[in-house]
Amino acid sequence: MDTWAAVDLPRLDGAGPPLRLYDTATAQVRPTAPGPTATMYVCGITPYDATHLGHAATYLAFDLVNRVWRDLGHDVHYVQNVTDIDDPLLERAARDQDDWVVLGMRETALFREDMEALRVLPPRHYIGAVEAMGEIAELVGKLLAAGAAYRVDDPEYPDVYFDVSVTGRFGYESNYDEATMIEIARERGGDPDRPGKRHPTDPLLWRMARPGEPSWESNLGAGRPGWHVECAAIALNRLGPQIDVNGGGSDLIFPHHECGAAHAEAHTGVHPFARHYVHTGMIGLDGEKMSKSRGNLVFVSKLRAQDVDPNAIRLALLAGHYRSDRPYTPELLATAQERLERWRDAVSLAAGPPGEDLVARLRTHLADDLDTPRALAAVDAWAAEALERRGTDAAAPALVRTAVDALLGVAL
Ligand code: ZN
Repeated sequence: MDTWAAVDLPRLDGAGPPLRLYDTATAQVRPTAPGPTATMYVCGITPYDATHLGHAATYLAFDLVNRVWRDLGHDVHYVQNVTDIDDPLLERAARDQDDWVVLGMRETALFREDMEALRVLPPRHYIGAVEAMGEIAELVGKLLAAGAAYRVDDPEYPDVYFDVSVTGRFGYESNYDEATMIEIARERGGDPDRPGKRHPTDPLLWRMARPGEPSWESNLGAGRPGWHVECAAIALNRLGPQIDVNGGGSDLIFPHHECGAAHAEAHTGVHPFARHYVHTGMIGLDGEKMSKSRGNLVFVSKLRAQDVDPNAIRLALLAGHYRSDRPYTPELLATAQERLERWRDAVSLAAGPPGEDLVARLRTHLADDLDTPRALAAVDAWAAEALERRGTDAAAPALVRTAVDALLGVAL
């Protein structure tokens, strides 16, 4: 699938400290230690209701990971998927009497436009589940052959399930106990109560074709894949058996990332699949999580249509820490717009306080588990001094403009 257009990424002199990120599996902020090429897989959208501010906040957080790594001199191999076939997409298409293919294409196109407008660096590979069908079925076949998967005892629909006991580590990523896993699986599209499964948390790998549902021919029989194995196959085939960061919203901690990691590890024997499992907080509206099921969504495209500068949307979402659940309010956006104007006024001056200190501070704050509130406050402080005409460094405004662009992705 086509990714979106590249964003110009200016280079800064020097380098900051290594990037430290919170890893869900070990419950610690730990340094990332990528090789010359850092590898990152971030779960993409199921293409309906794109792109609400919760999505945007997630992809902006990983955009900062990408930017900080690149500033440290790493090449970044970034892969993202599009779940362009799954139950929620079919349900939405049925509800709206829409064609699921058309719905998926339309919303994916909108998502790409929004990402480009928000100046998110594009992934190297942007892969849809449908185009990856062959490789997903192949991985399911290998898991079956290796005894890590089985067919459920159902003569009508002998669907293929993953046996969560095979790695001996199931639960290490989320750190949830079994009762919690079963409860969450039930809430998030799992089927812990289906008869014939070996363990309640065993996730679906291949759903045999049902009448009226789209299906694809494969050695497993006509059908379609489960969601977790889609990501496992797409990631393994492009990034290898171990990656630096596996990312997504905190609602993907379980079952999605737990199961994806288990699939990958059962296939490769390499543990852990991801050195860091990184999760972003939820964006709320009027005291509730912004989500498709509640229907309380604010869309990037709607704000853009109202002539809101995407750089202000970026600043509004970066004003809070990526891991915290936080509310979106119109005031948050208004504050971000004022901030953007102040910063633009400051970098338009003929001189300002020296910019090197600010660059160092930005790098330090971002390297500290993406501490954007402090990073933004550091730019605020520089801009305030500059606007009070307290600096005489003629090179500073251009340096600050470059640093804010490279590290925060905000065009001043
Ligand atoms: Zn995924």
